[in-house]
Amino acid sequence: PVNSQKTFHVRAMAEYRPREDPAIPCADAGLPFRKGDVLQVVDQSDALWWQARKVSDPHACAGLIPSVHLLKRKQREFWWSQPYRPHTCLKPSISGFRRSLRLCRRKSHSGQLRASLRGMGTGGCCMAVGTLYEEVARYQRHAEDRHRLVVLVGPSGVGVNELRRQLIEFNPSRFQSAVPHTTRSPKSYEMNGREYHYVSKETFESLIYSHRMLECGEYKGHLYGTSVDAVHTVLDEGKICVLDLEPQDIQVARTSELKPYVIFIKPSNLSCMKQSRKNAKIITDYFVDMKFQDEDLQEMEESAQKMEAEFGQFFDHVIVNDNLQDACAQLLSTIERAQEEPQWVPVTWIS
Ligand code: 5GP
Repeated sequence: PVNSQKTFHVRAMAEYRPREDPAIPCADAGLPFRKGDVLQVVDQSDALWWQARKVSDPHACAGLIPSVHLLKRKQREFWWSQPYRPHTCLKPSISGFRRSLRLCRRKSHSGQLRASLRGMGTGGCCMAVGTLYEEVARYQRHAEDRHRLVVLVGPSGVGVNELRRQLIEFNPSRFQSAVPHTTRSPKSYEMNGREYHYVSKETFESLIYSHRMLECGEYKGHLYGTSVDAVHTVLDEGKICVLDLEPQDIQVARTSELKPYVIFIKPSNLSCMKQSRKNAKIITDYFVDMKFQDEDLQEMEESAQKMEAEFGQFFDHVIVNDNLQDACAQLLSTIERAQEEPQWVPVTWIS
């Protein structure tokens, strides 16, 4: 719910192109914006068209954006124009959960497959009919507050795992990963609570149903996943918890208790990637180790574009990884800024 009188800020959850909106009274006066832009709403005296400016461009004139009332009206009109569809799947069932498990083809260097649970977030359908804004406010973490969870997202092969590993290796007393849960039995050299928390299938499933799993998946008949409590354990130690998540799991982590700061790791464009791969021995061994084919690079670029198009509104920061060392340095400074400087977060996280 958006305040009625004072100025306030919203994050755009979708793109708006006033020139393509036949409803706008004057297209020239419209304010075009992209997903993730933070807008200051400066006038809402008109019920249907607010005036706003981008915080990134504070000296520009304010422009018209559709108000929440207008969007709700459009949404009602949209639903009335749709054929009747009875609701299905109101309650999650374990067979439903199994069906919704999706192998993400997140192939790591050793060719491991990673599965991820899909469908726990709100999804894109309500976006299509008008959830255009999220009210946001500045959040300044104080020294006594716990650190924010850092979530890394990126297409398979872009180096998300590797960046997380390097970050933790660089300063293990500051950065740590959460220990995942699994239903497989421990190997002889593994210790409960170090590599994994080894739990029964029943315990794992009860964690899912009580919404204590941030993400999970199935591999060779065993369940694997990261729990909210495992993240808390790291944060309670005063460390920064760094997770890599599939983009569709971001919504599950977006809670006031974790206040995730989401960093999208993006490949550079195709020609740059080919170039850096060609010069890999000079710049870094990273791309040599990966042994990428042209099709892999193409697939990575397409996957990154899809992720940005569908989930870009949740990315707090984007890092282009065309050189692992540079990307790691950028990641470090971005995380420090995210923890120490004021950031825009959903207003519900701080009220
Ligand atoms: P392993 O049993 O060899 O330790 O791991 C098998 C697979 O489980 C690996 O492909 C690994 O990526 C996946 N895996 C390990 N931890 C997690 C986790 O926390 N979540 C998910 N979704 N998969 C995991």
